[in-house]
Amino acid sequence: MNYHRFKLPKAYCPKCSRKVELLFSEESQEAPQFYICFKCKTVGQFGLGELPANDYSAFSAERKKEIQEAVEEIPDKYVYKAKGSQLRLEEKSDTYTRRWLSLYEYEKAFGEKIGFETIDFRADKRLCKWCNQTLEGRRTSFCSDRCSRNYGKATFFKRGISTLPYRIASRDQFYCRVTGADLAITNRFGVRIPASNHQVEIHHLVFVSEGGSDHETNLLTVSKQVHKDYHMGITYAVEAIDKIKKQQLLLYQDKMYTTEIK
Ligand SMILES: [Zn+2]
Ligand SMILES: [Zn+2]
Ligand SMILES: [Zn+2]
Repeated sequence: MNYHRFKLPKAYCPKCSRKVELLFSEESQEAPQFYICFKCKTVGQFGLGELPANDYSAFSAERKKEIQEAVEEIPDKYVYKAKGSQLRLEEKSDTYTRRWLSLYEYEKAFGEKIGFETIDFRADKRLCKWCNQTLEGRRTSFCSDRCSRNYGKATFFKRGISTLPYRIASRDQFYCRVTGADLAITNRFGVRIPASNHQVEIHHLVFVSEGGSDHETNLLTVSKQVHKDYHMGITYAVEAIDKIKKQQLLLYQDKMYTTEIK
């Protein structure tokens, strides 16, 4: 497992409040992600807290050596200004976790609400959202309570997506923005339902670790595979996503970066 070491993260050490440096896995978002504090010389894992000094079990021997060397250097010059980053200090556990902004935090950070509240895939609004039958009388969404219940069940926890990324997936109609792959569930009636079987991932065009914000202009719906391919540097994914990134930066650069770092 290789890690990118980022020199411009925006997070502070939970112990001493100094800036920390981040290590993100090159291959997978699910792999452990770490931070290093140069002042108190600790290494921590997001969501778990400080690792014992001699137990960097997830690191390769080379990486451990690199970390040791880096820790010895104690660079002073980095300026990390946190705001709107995905990295937050959790009050209770005193550790860093990566999580999405809540809708409230989003509004506070960007001075605007995020739209894409309700998603309705139906081309024809006279059909039931679940079974595709023609709606009767004054019904506008479901032909029956049963269909409403089934739909509710299918979308209930949004299949493991937090609210903000769910809004982004809704904006993108649950299609991968690179390949056009359909990332929504299709039910037994052949109807697309705005929920995903863990195929939806949301990519930050400007990486969080490079100052990228959670603003919707910085976020892109992609399939799990495309996302992995992009971060592994596979050409098709890099070309497609970087093209979008370039276009977005022309229009929305200010929103795509959190404050200070440009
Ligand atoms: Zn520290
Ligand atoms: Zn129905
Ligand atoms: Zn990504």
